[in-house]
Amino acid sequence: MTREGLLTSAPEPFTAPCVHCGRTTTAPVVVGVTERASGPPMVQYACPQDAARYGAGPSPEDEIG
Ligand SMILES: [Zn+2]
Repeated sequence: MTREGLLTSAPEPFTAPCVHCGRTTTAPVVVGVTERASGPPMVQYACPQDAARYGAGPSPEDEIG
């Protein structure tokens, strides 16, 4: 296996833009979901520093488990 092969096989960290500060965070926290009449719901993410502003709590995913 080549070094390039190892690098490309590494999982890409999930990133999302923070709805508050606009910075891309590698540890996005779901702070809301905007239902749209057409198309799938748009999930809103915030960086850990700003997640508290939105009262981030247990997400639906947490309650399933
Ligand atoms: Zn932020």
